[in-house]
Amino acid sequence: MSGLLLKNGTVVDPSQGLHKKLDLLVADGKVAELKENISADGAEVYDLQDKIIAPGLIDMHVHLREPGQEEKETIKTGSKAAAAGGFTSIACMANTDPPADDVSLIKHIQEVARRHGIVNVLPIGACTIGLRGEFITQIGEMQRFGAVAFSDDGQPIANAQVLRKVLEYAGMFNSVVISHCEDKTLTNGGSMNESALSTKLGLPGIPIASETTMVARDIEIAKNFGRIHLAHISAKASLDLVRQAKKLGAPITCETAPHYLLLTEEAVGAYSTNAKMSPPLRQEADRLALLAALQDGTIDIIATDHAPHTLDDKRVEFNLASFGISGLETALPLLYTHLVQTGLLTIDRLVELMSVNPAKIFALDKGTLKIGAAADITVIDTQLTKKVDKTKFYSKGKNTPFDGWELGGWAAMTIVGGQIKYTPEKGVWLKT
Ligand SMILES: [Zn+2]
Repeated sequence: MSGLLLKNGTVVDPSQGLHKKLDLLVADGKVAELKENISADGAEVYDLQDKIIAPGLIDMHVHLREPGQEEKETIKTGSKAAAAGGFTSIACMANTDPPADDVSLIKHIQEVARRHGIVNVLPIGACTIGLRGEFITQIGEMQRFGAVAFSDDGQPIANAQVLRKVLEYAGMFNSVVISHCEDKTLTNGGSMNESALSTKLGLPGIPIASETTMVARDIEIAKNFGRIHLAHISAKASLDLVRQAKKLGAPITCETAPHYLLLTEEAVGAYSTNAKMSPPLRQEADRLALLAALQDGTIDIIATDHAPHTLDDKRVEFNLASFGISGLETALPLLYTHLVQTGLLTIDRLVELMSVNPAKIFALDKGTLKIGAAADITVIDTQLTKKVDKTKFYSKGKNTPFDGWELGGWAAMTIVGGQIKYTPEKGVWLKT
């Protein structure tokens, strides 16, 4: 028989409560066997001693920029970056040019992904036409053609009545709406966290209330009209609201991103535009609260908010620079090194946050290594350490504040549908 036999690795699969040294056999693109001492004639055998075998990582918040801004990223380069970063599935936000606000765009993204995608590329449809927050898109139709969630990310839906209708409409199809929580009138052209530091640097600040007022509003709207997933939470005050709402049973889930867990506004330091994001990096108390919220379950998911930009988009005055960082190729080793190796989280919890929970919340048939599941697998090297080198990124976006960081926990193998798509030795394996 053909297939892949992964031997001697430690299988970490929280969907089955598994953390054990086991062999795993992949056949016909599926997990065929999972037990001790498998032998399979004809299968390619890989010795994964000192490696972790996890259900493939899923990133529900990625900007692939295609169509319209291919100089920043394409579906091809973004999905290569995903494979190299250990992600087997990525969901791409709708704020392309034109935005993914109708069926033809969803079909187009899927067609390009079929031809050039290295990993599973899952389109997210826009909630409103042109992301303008006025008229609702054809959510049901877009879902029928493969949209896995709905979001105007990049833009908040300012009009609460429109958001209500979006939720009611999406609810009819059991689809989840992802909300970018920002009150633009409070952001008011700001470019970093509003604080003593922003005053010192002479940069216009973005107050925490820009996020929290919308988190509070979204919680109230969710309680009354349907489920909301809150994107990229950055502040302690937002977490306090989410924690309280969850206790009362509000249909709310939320995510944060690696940069909010590892950096503070201090990273802006010498006007470093690679530390400019939306929402902005906050203060140490916020960072610590985010870590605590990962531990107590207030935060459900870690997503990268991969936001690739060209050098020119970032090599300008701080105020004029674009928001966001290129995140796909650093997320796993950053989190493994700074959260798992430091003992803040177990590897099991990290896999839950990056694979099991995204699959559960967005009803994806993924996030597990159960027999018969699609063989989407991330193998993590627990021994190798190396430095982040942005010049080696597959992503077109070299905009990272983590260049030069020494990290462990890199992807050792990314398997999508039973096919090896990436190993450090061979790089990303192109589709033939
Ligand atoms: Zn956003």
